[in-house]
Amino acid sequence: MTNPLLAPWTAPFGLPPFAAVRPEHFAPAFAEAMARHLAEIDAIAGSAEEPTFANTIAALDRSGRDLERIESLFWNLTSSETSPALQEVQRAMVPQLAAHGSRVRTHPALFARIDALHARRDALGLDDEQRRVLERFHLDGVRAGARLAAEAQARHAEIVRRLAELMTRFGQNLLADESAFKLVLRSEADLAGLPESVRAATRQAALDRGIADGAVITLSRSLIVPFLTFSERRDLREAAWRAWTSRGEHDGATDNRAVAAEILQLRLEQARLHGHASFADFALADTMAQSQRAVSGLLERVWRPALARAEDEREALAALALSRGESATIEPWDWRFYAEQVRRVRFDLDDAEVKPYFPLEAMVAAAFDCANRLFGISFVERRDLGAYHPDVRVYEVHGASGPIGVFLHDNFARPSKRSGAWMSEYRTQSRNGGTGTQAVLPIVVNNNNFAKAAPGEPTLLSFDDARTLFHEFGHGLHGLLSNVRYERLAGTSVLRDFVELPSQLFEHWLDEPAVLKRHARHHRTGEPIPDALIEKLRRARHFNQGYETLRYTASAMVDMAVHARTSNAPIDVVEFERAELARIGLPHGVGVNHRLVHFQHLFSGGYAAGYYVYLWAEVLDADGYDAFVEAGDPFDAAVARRVARFIYSAGNSIEPGAAYRAFRGRDAAVEPMLRERGLLESVPS
Ligand SMILES: [Zn+2]
Repeated sequence: MTNPLLAPWTAPFGLPPFAAVRPEHFAPAFAEAMARHLAEIDAIAGSAEEPTFANTIAALDRSGRDLERIESLFWNLTSSETSPALQEVQRAMVPQLAAHGSRVRTHPALFARIDALHARRDALGLDDEQRRVLERFHLDGVRAGARLAAEAQARHAEIVRRLAELMTRFGQNLLADESAFKLVLRSEADLAGLPESVRAATRQAALDRGIADGAVITLSRSLIVPFLTFSERRDLREAAWRAWTSRGEHDGATDNRAVAAEILQLRLEQARLHGHASFADFALADTMAQSQRAVSGLLERVWRPALARAEDEREALAALALSRGESATIEPWDWRFYAEQVRRVRFDLDDAEVKPYFPLEAMVAAAFDCANRLFGISFVERRDLGAYHPDVRVYEVHGASGPIGVFLHDNFARPSKRSGAWMSEYRTQSRNGGTGTQAVLPIVVNNNNFAKAAPGEPTLLSFDDARTLFHEFGHGLHGLLSNVRYERLAGTSVLRDFVELPSQLFEHWLDEPAVLKRHARHHRTGEPIPDALIEKLRRARHFNQGYETLRYTASAMVDMAVHARTSNAPIDVVEFERAELARIGLPHGVGVNHRLVHFQHLFSGGYAAGYYVYLWAEVLDADGYDAFVEAGDPFDAAVARRVARFIYSAGNSIEPGAAYRAFRGRDAAVEPMLRERGLLESVPS
């Protein structure tokens, strides 16, 4: 019997054989693909020829493509359409794959060749991109422990292997907690305050869980946030909020407290092997920010004005609560609810009035249209091409002279999908395919977790959901527009604090009145969104930004603090978090974006000591979008050409600071970010 993963992938564009793949195919395919990859690496390392850029670096960049395509499929399925069988394979394979990665990056004969080339890099006659990919592979080896003495190197590999295991467990625990919870709303009284769109989503969530004629709140963000925003039932809001914020903190098999603690201990040990005092120092050495000081300087810059702003906001909420004869103490499960009430009064803005203008289909069309006007690309749906779930839409992406890639859009929440929203790839762009210069087209996927409407009904997005759609699509464009020679530098393989620039920059087009007038149309009447409603959305933009900024910044500060520890004494993550939030003075009632026990960015993703990157990139995107504002046209052709060339297409082929300057003509200023958040006027002198 042939294994479809190891057979040639014959679907159009080399898409994975989705329909034929079973969980049991992965382990043998991984074993075979890892062996092939090691044989390729041994051949490069054992070459009798002197090391050259072509026979070592370019060849290394081309190696392991079989393993990559199987791994990409595997990671995408474990995130978007997992199953107990696949999770079992994941637990078994993840440590083996991590060990394989360490073995390749620290391969002594291979690293000796890379190191020799790196030492002579000025004399090799390399162009800028070649030099950068040589430096990148060299640094990859160094950071994987290639320079460590044998014993330390073995320990480093063991740490990397164990970390992979723990991070998998962290994510699986969380998914189990999220799938297990449901708050069943039994009567009209339980639904009090919920607009029709939220009620429809709760009915659909109930149906998905086999409950006919019911209504269910799950821990999916697109259900829980609207529930906390609209529900009049304080007791139910509290129950939902407690369930949401205690994910990962339950005694028993899914408890993430000890998992996080062990991850932190191992990370510190890893950093020490590299000669750093803390994991934060080790992580930041490979970023634009470079140091804890640069990060905390930026976080402090928003923290103090946001504290003052949130205090004003809290007073307004308390006054409103009192006017309703309710308690003036704003608990964390109250803030969104009263904020929505204040927003209605102050800006005459009602979410239920906004949503009908934001059907999912129209917002997808809006994102595609903006990409077309900026970058000249178009999206052609291929309904004949199936993916891994019937809800996934597949598009061929065309540039000026033919296809440039494939885009998969997976928009709906389901129990087999992890929470959050993200972009990833099935294949990465390069012009280093085959035996050398062959073009490899990217296959990119965007995942969202929107609550799906009932069959026959359009899925309506909140303005925030639409923003998430644009954000992930910006990442998608970073992958699709990538135009580099070497895969290691392609698309989103940039430094971590640059990676949110293309995504956050793209969000700005959703705020453009011209884009809204064209695409935000009432799902029943087709009428474009009224100017008055656009104006209300604009005026309400800064509303509640103190709260939002504190929640984000507190999470970024806790992340940095927990990874800046220099003592390897056992840590109680819940107590550490409590003490840190008290130290920075997070006001009562605000809460944080992510508690440590379910902070996937840190403990099952790549953002450890890196949650700050959203704010870092926001400095760049706010300043960068001003280039279009200054040109007087959100689709100005000259600015669009520069942003395409230096931001969306360049990958990591140019040092990020230099890439930004090439686009903007200067470094980014912080003020546009502060202005966008409405924090500029209250910056203390
Ligand atoms: Zn992002």
